[in-house]
Order: sequence, then C-alpha cells, then structure tokens
Amino acid sequence: MNQDLETDYIVRINMEEIDPRKASVSIFDHGFLFGDSIYEVVRTVNGKPYAWKEHLKRLRGSCRSINLELPWTDEDLQRDVDTAIASKRWDGETYIRLIITRGAGQIDLMPRTCKNPNLIVIAKELPELRARLHEIGLVLCVTEVKRNSRLAMDPAIKSGNYLNNVLALIEARGKGADDSIMLNENDHLTECSTSNFFLVKDGGVKTPSLDCGILAGIIREKIIGIALSEGIPIEETSLTLDDLRSADEVFITGTVKGVVPVNRIIGQVEWEGEPGAITEQLREAFYVSSGM
Ligand code: PLP
Repeated sequence: MNQDLETDYIVRINMEEIDPRKASVSIFDHGFLFGDSIYEVVRTVNGKPYAWKEHLKRLRGSCRSINLELPWTDEDLQRDVDTAIASKRWDGETYIRLIITRGAGQIDLMPRTCKNPNLIVIAKELPELRARLHEIGLVLCVTEVKRNSRLAMDPAIKSGNYLNNVLALIEARGKGADDSIMLNENDHLTECSTSNFFLVKDGGVKTPSLDCGILAGIIREKIIGIALSEGIPIEETSLTLDDLRSADEVFITGTVKGVVPVNRIIGQVEWEGEPGAITEQLREAFYVSSGM
C-alpha cells in the first residue's frame, strides 16, 4: 500500500468516504471468498457519468441474475457515485468502479447468512483515452482459453469472478499480445478480456451476437446505433476464425478504452491490417456524439 493511494483514489464504502489506505472489506465477504459480487465501470464526460442509465440497468440485471437483492434505490446509487466524483482531487475525467458484494457470512457457498451486501465505489483519474497506441492499433491473441459458456457462468453477468478473463489475458500477454480474443465452446468468436470485438468486411461491420456468450457492452451498443445512423451495414452474428482471417479491419470497444483499432492478430489465427476507414468513421462519430 503506497502513500499515493490517498491522493490518487476516492473510496466510498456503504455511502461513506474512507481513507483509501485503510479501506477494506471482511475476509468473510462472499465477494472475497467466492467471487460472489457484481460490478460496473463507469467514466465521466465533462464531469458527469457517461451512459449512467445504461450502466444502472446492466447492474440491476447482473443483480437479478445472481439473486442479489439491493437495499439501495437507483437514486441512492447515483447520489453515491456523484458524491465520489465531486470529491475528486484530480483535474481530468474520472474512472468509477462500483462494486456490490454479497456481504459477509458463514463459509458456506449458500449465501443465506449474508444479510448485508456491501457497496464499494472506487474513483480515480481516467487513464488517457486516445493514447498513441490507440491510434496505431493493438495486437490481439486468439487464446486457447475459451470464454465461459453461457450455460455455466453467463458472460452477460458483470460479476466479480473474472478468472476466465485473467487466464486469457495472461496467455495473451505471454505470447506478446496486448489482449486476448476468446472463442466459445462452438468455436465462435466472443470478446476480449475487458472489451467487445468487431470486424469489418466489404464495407459492413460484424460483431458477435449476445447469443455467443459476451457482455452486452455499453460502447458496443453505441457503436451499433452509430453504424445504423451512418448507414453502415451492421450485423450481430456468429463469427468463426475464417471470418477473422478474411477481415478487412478489426477494432474493439469498452468504456475505458473507447474504440481502438487492432493491427495484428496472433495465436490461432495470423492476421495483419491497418486501422481502416470504417473503424475511423465509427470512432470519430462515437467521440463526437459522446463528447469524449
Ligand atoms: N466485455 C467484457 C468482458 C468487459 O469486462 C467489458 C468492460 O469491462 C466490456 C466487454 C466492454 O463493456 P462496456 O462497453 O460496457 O465498457
């Protein structure tokens, strides 16, 4: 724990600001013991949480999926996030991580002894969005690690259990890539460790459908909307390694990174490309419409 924690982070636990150096939750919290928690990552634009309603909706959906009832209203959650942002000690935009754990209970997978979920809000300065690497493009690795099956641990739930993604990222980094792209049990493309995936072919955009087992990314949804309004054909579908091999352009999306081109793919497929015209058009339109 270093001293910068105090200036670099704002931490709120159950609606109270806590010194980040002392912030902790119980080792009996089922979020810690079993990964029994959900979360959202939100960013600000001009100091206001971007797409807050969409994040709130997804958060409520994640809670429903894990049978977690919250004692807080939407207004409570919004007020807590707004308060964290208002306490910031940095000039730039803010990254907010909102975590809700099952709470402390007996060491028993069944959460019946967990009476009070914990609400944790961690805020820090948003890392630079349009860094140089983001202009040149990233390297992805199609990993041997597959995405969790929807029938086992649905990737649509934004849960605190990210071991699947951690393992894929470790493999990708070990092979020299920036991030992984995972296949599902049917060998269809899904998503990256913390981003959604798109490819461009013959002027049209394709992205894995929700059925493939992915998180319904908020930026993914925005990009689909922008493509429709710009008259660019867009399809949510099942994509194979052959689709990837023959792609003209590839890009990924996420709240923190925005829209980022890919210039190389390794692992189960070898692909090289340039940040292309359609990626750039969608990227520009997204940055203009979002105010980022
Ligand atoms: N896919 C996964 C697995 C993620 O963790 C994330 C974001 O954290 C995304 C996709 C992108 O989602 P969003 O656009 O809502 O940030």
